[in-house]
Amino acid sequence: MQHDVELLILGGGCAGLSLAMQLAQRGQCAPRTLILEQRVCYENDRTWCFWGDAKTPFAQQAAHQWRTFKVVNAGQERRVDCSETPYRMLTAEQFYNAASLALTAVPQMKLKMQSTVNSEPQFRQGRWHFETPDGAISAASVVDTRPQRPPAQDGALMWQSFYGLEIECAQSVFEPSCVELMNFSAATSERVAFTYVLPLSATRALVEFTVFAVAPFTSDALALDLQSAIAQRVKEANFTVLRSEQGVLPMGLADLQATLQSADPTYVRVGLFAGAARPATGYAFQRIQRWAADCGRAMANGGLPISHPNEPALRGWMDTLFLNVVRRQPELAPQLFMALFSGVASQRVIRFLGESGVLADYLAMAWALPHRPFLRQLFSFPRSP
Ligand SMILES: Cc1cc2nc3c(=O)[nH]c(=O)nc-3n(C[C@H](O)[C@H](O)[C@H](O)COP(=O)(O)OP(=O)(O)OC[C@H]3O[C@@H](n4cnc5c(N)ncnc54)[C@H](O)[C@@H]3O)c2cc1C
Repeated sequence: MQHDVELLILGGGCAGLSLAMQLAQRGQCAPRTLILEQRVCYENDRTWCFWGDAKTPFAQQAAHQWRTFKVVNAGQERRVDCSETPYRMLTAEQFYNAASLALTAVPQMKLKMQSTVNSEPQFRQGRWHFETPDGAISAASVVDTRPQRPPAQDGALMWQSFYGLEIECAQSVFEPSCVELMNFSAATSERVAFTYVLPLSATRALVEFTVFAVAPFTSDALALDLQSAIAQRVKEANFTVLRSEQGVLPMGLADLQATLQSADPTYVRVGLFAGAARPATGYAFQRIQRWAADCGRAMANGGLPISHPNEPALRGWMDTLFLNVVRRQPELAPQLFMALFSGVASQRVIRFLGESGVLADYLAMAWALPHRPFLRQLFSFPRSP
């Protein structure tokens, strides 16, 4: 098989399919595109959550939304009203179905499953050439969303590792109207750990145990903590496990992103390991949607694909400072998060997390945080990721 396409997308996950959906909106004017995905089929392997109003991409399709979330530490609880921009959950299944449907309607765009590309491309006569198990492919431009495997430990300031189970209980144990965003475990000098609960009903929830640390954790390493987080919530109730999800997200890859980009503008790297994840939170879904819309627009105007934009200077600086403080003193993190959610108007924190923060929001947050650890970090020798 020899394929010649205008655009080759490597990896049909969130970033690859988001761009494909943007391009598919152009119907017959969409570029001749091939998406190569290594999976045999899509599974409901994750949930994507984000804060957003009705106009936010995928807000209308979200399977669940909550108007309140809480942050808990050492018996203190802070409830936050987020009804203006509810916390919404999209299932991977909904997302993959939407992408398949969009692509079916556009014959010049093809998604090929079970197609793993590990070869290095050759650039000849203005085109990228790949050898794949299904034959040679040449493309005028390439959007590469393949994650780095394995992620180098020092490739990020910190890593967010999590392991979760969606469970159905025999009795009502969850509060369906309120997300448990962060319920901190006892602080240690090695890791920040908390439980995250998305209550889907009084009897069903996704319960996740999450760790921020300088090295990634496997799901095996998180399994015992997850078990005890579930036991604390369900108490004596019987429960059935419906599915699991796990992940390791880089926090603070900013410098690596620059080194990842190819010198040739016809080849761009995007996705989780190329700047999609917000450094301080690991949230990436809405950033990917914004990038996909911008990239689709650039290509519709006859331009080349684009990579993720650099972090705006102030936000990037604040995220890096915050991460460095947490990295240096993980045991402080629960207090820092509690201070943020207690001392700053909730809409300001949500705007900051949702990336629509303005200068006044940043200042309010800086003011609410205990100053000493940040000053100490500012006057210490800077560490680059
Ligand atoms: C379980 C989980 C839950 C998450 N929840 C949230 C959330 O609630 N909110 C949020 O904002 N972010 C969340 N994230 C972070 C982020 O949004 C996701 O990781 C998102 O899927 C990243 O998109 P991506 O395209 O970079 O990676 P992926 O979606 O993983 O896509 C990469 C694709 O490339 C394919 N691939 C890999 N290697 C090859 C190869 N050699 N050849 C061909 N194909 C290949 C993979 O099979 C995969 O389909 C979550 C991440 C995980 C793992």
